[in-house]
Amino acid sequence: MRKLTDSFRLSNEYEIPCLGYGTWDMFNGDSTVSAIKNALHVGYRHIDTAAFYKNEKSIGKAIRESGIDRSALFVTSKVWTNDRGYENTKRAFAKSLDELKLEYLDLYLIHWPASAAKYADWEKINLDTWKAIIELYKEGNIKAIGVSNFLVHHLEALMRTEVPPMVNQLEIHPGHMQKDILGFCGKNEILVEAWGPLGQGKMLSDPKLAAIAAKYQKSVAQLCIRWCLQNGTLPLPKSSSPTRMEENTLVFDFSISEGDMEEINAMPYFGGSGQHPDEVDF
Ligand code: NAD
Repeated sequence: MRKLTDSFRLSNEYEIPCLGYGTWDMFNGDSTVSAIKNALHVGYRHIDTAAFYKNEKSIGKAIRESGIDRSALFVTSKVWTNDRGYENTKRAFAKSLDELKLEYLDLYLIHWPASAAKYADWEKINLDTWKAIIELYKEGNIKAIGVSNFLVHHLEALMRTEVPPMVNQLEIHPGHMQKDILGFCGKNEILVEAWGPLGQGKMLSDPKLAAIAAKYQKSVAQLCIRWCLQNGTLPLPKSSSPTRMEENTLVFDFSISEGDMEEINAMPYFGGSGQHPDEVDF
């Protein structure tokens, strides 16, 4: 990847811009409209939202006010856990489109798998949800479909369906590389998106990462984002500050050496959210 507008090609050939703008913890309101417009102004063309974030109305407003052609943008949303199941998913999707005031989504994801800790029939719940998403895809309402926080055993059931997932959005950052799932996704043509690529801010004060970043005259945030890209994952950093959101795009003018990649890849777990998809209670 050489520039912000380069893209990954999904298994159905649809192109997805290689760096996305995360929007968790930004709620409907003027400050979110202005943050999204700033993000579009500095060059992001890929916006990651979810019904759960309660900001789809403001994202839609910012898109309309930006004047950027819809076809130049890539918009993702996700079905939340209390909307799982066939009928609920169809309704949730219609609501997301209505809030965004868009005619289609580029990508729609199951936000979290039904967890084994909470549901005996977790596989069936995931399959029913997925069936609705496949139908929406075949009707042309979504250009690409996928999941989020799915581990290998969650993915295996969906791989046997008519349209397997094209994307898996996972928590990925130094110290939490999730090599098993990355390997499975790589073999099955599932692009991995990295949520929390900065460890939700917790990577930024790590001395080892700071020392490596300094060698390239880059910030730790830029190092983490570049590390995600060089591992073949699509980072989704979030910042509402115009300076930082721009800083997070300046990751295409350097390359992390093989030795430094290996050193970061081998870092022990730290700074993770602690959310295990089989154990969460939502
Ligand atoms: P992140 O790793 O992007 O970190 C965000 C934090 O880092 C914020 O506090 C921000 O102010 C700070 N930050 C950003 N850039 C910085 C910079 N250059 N210098 C210093 N500080 C900086 O965490 P996130 O927002 O949790 O994750 C990114 C996106 O991934 C979300 O916004 C959301 O779109 C998505 N996400 C998805 C899931 C999921 O379950 N699928 C879960 C969490 C997040």
